[in-house]
Amino acid sequence: MKIVHIADEVIETVWTLLEKGSCTREMVKSAHAGSAGYVVDDEVLGGLEKSGLIHFAGSDISLTEEGRAQAMPIIRRHRLAERLLVDVLGMTFEEMEESACEYEHTLAPGLTEAICTLLGHPRECPHGSPIPEGDCCRRAESSVKTFVKSLDALSIGDEIRITFIRKSDPVLVGKLVSFGVSPGKRLKIRQKFPAYIIQIDNTQIALEQDIAAGIFGLKL
Ligand SMILES: [Zn+2]
Ligand SMILES: [Zn+2]
Repeated sequence: MKIVHIADEVIETVWTLLEKGSCTREMVKSAHAGSAGYVVDDEVLGGLEKSGLIHFAGSDISLTEEGRAQAMPIIRRHRLAERLLVDVLGMTFEEMEESACEYEHTLAPGLTEAICTLLGHPRECPHGSPIPEGDCCRRAESSVKTFVKSLDALSIGDEIRITFIRKSDPVLVGKLVSFGVSPGKRLKIRQKFPAYIIQIDNTQIALEQDIAAGIFGLKL
């Protein structure tokens, strides 16, 4: 048996749709059309409005302040779980989706912060959607020691297992991956100045400083 928190599922959908631009009753209903074990119809949506989580304007739906406050940690857990599953556990996008949905309801707050810190307070999920900040991210600036470090926080001779690449330019990320710089790979720092030289398997690659700063891994 599986308990479905319909209100949480719906406000999560509303959040995601609003992020993409717009959210209507029809969009929310069809987003849940294939869901197993529950239905989202006008009655459910009306109930959520009565509980003060969503607001209607014609066919448009928005989140109330309370709705946002309730949805935010769910979105955060879901997207952090995605990062964990893909970057650290090496799952594919398909395998990830189902597990991430489980985690968003079961991760305890302390564990969520630990995962966020382990991952180096990532700002985006693997799909490129923003991860809402938690207390740990605001505290973390530079004082909290994270287990996952970027190349510029490491020394010559250090080895890491790459966990993720934080770069907004997908072309650049694609290029790095084609050189073998991808999550799961072992990387050794050979030189830091005037440019970074890293070694992966038997290949050495020269990188500019700002690119190196966006490559994160677990120190081995
Ligand atoms: Zn995502
Ligand atoms: Zn954080």
